[in-house]
Amino acid sequence: MNIEVHPLTSNPTRAWKELANTQKVVKINVPVPSKTPSSDKLRIVCMSDTHSLTPHIKFHIPNGDVFIHAGDFTRCGAEDEVVDFNNWIGKLPHKHKIVIAGNHELSFDRTFTHPLSPNIVKTIPTLGLPRNNIAEAVTASNIKERLTNCVYLQDEAINISGLKIYGTPWQPEFHRWAFNLPRGEECLKKWNLIPDDTDILVTHTPPIGHGDLCCTGVRAGCVELLATVQRRVKPKYHVFGHIHEGYGVSTDGNVIYVNASTCNINYLPINPPIVFDISIPQGK
Ligand SMILES: [Zn+2]
Ligand SMILES: [Zn+2]
Repeated sequence: MNIEVHPLTSNPTRAWKELANTQKVVKINVPVPSKTPSSDKLRIVCMSDTHSLTPHIKFHIPNGDVFIHAGDFTRCGAEDEVVDFNNWIGKLPHKHKIVIAGNHELSFDRTFTHPLSPNIVKTIPTLGLPRNNIAEAVTASNIKERLTNCVYLQDEAINISGLKIYGTPWQPEFHRWAFNLPRGEECLKKWNLIPDDTDILVTHTPPIGHGDLCCTGVRAGCVELLATVQRRVKPKYHVFGHIHEGYGVSTDGNVIYVNASTCNINYLPINPPIVFDISIPQGK
């Protein structure tokens, strides 16, 4: 099935005003999970947007079969931040740990680690970070090799007990940070790589309409990502972060959307992990 670019793709707030007439969005209060999941289910524990603030986390991280981090685990992807994150995730008890990058992981985006990147460094806003931290981040090489305690997914899938989990870091343009793409065709090309049979989709960006409302009233989600999720891929769960103030769970009646942002809008890591149990396909 072919998804087409929406005519209002570059104005997601307006696009949503139009789409909302035919869309259902129901907020869900996620219940605290029982002590252990039944044996025919996998327990998934989701976090996102920890931004190198894991030492300040006060809440308990529940155990589970799969831990998912939906990107922005650092402030700018500097090597020491990546190493610290890897040490932190290495101490978590989960059997499987899956991580994608977000726009803050500059060193994971090859367009930033390209020889011309010092020029790019001058053009991006620093969000209060010293420029030399950012310059150092973009010169870090083979940074993915620092993630030894988890599986890093970049436009690829992993199969766990017969469930397909696909991860992708791309988002619609946002101040020229990492993995930014123009809205519309360019984003859709990346969404077209998502396999039809994905059970849990992990992206950094929200789709339009779910967990994407900024405190300014602007919708930041991707219109074509929602269309891809609803009409073609139809995963059971779509996990993301990026819009910190969009933390929470919602559904359109078919797919469950999880904005797992740990940090709130003020970059305080106070939102607890979102936990759900998913049925293992029969015979696995
Ligand atoms: Zn973030
Ligand atoms: Zn982000």
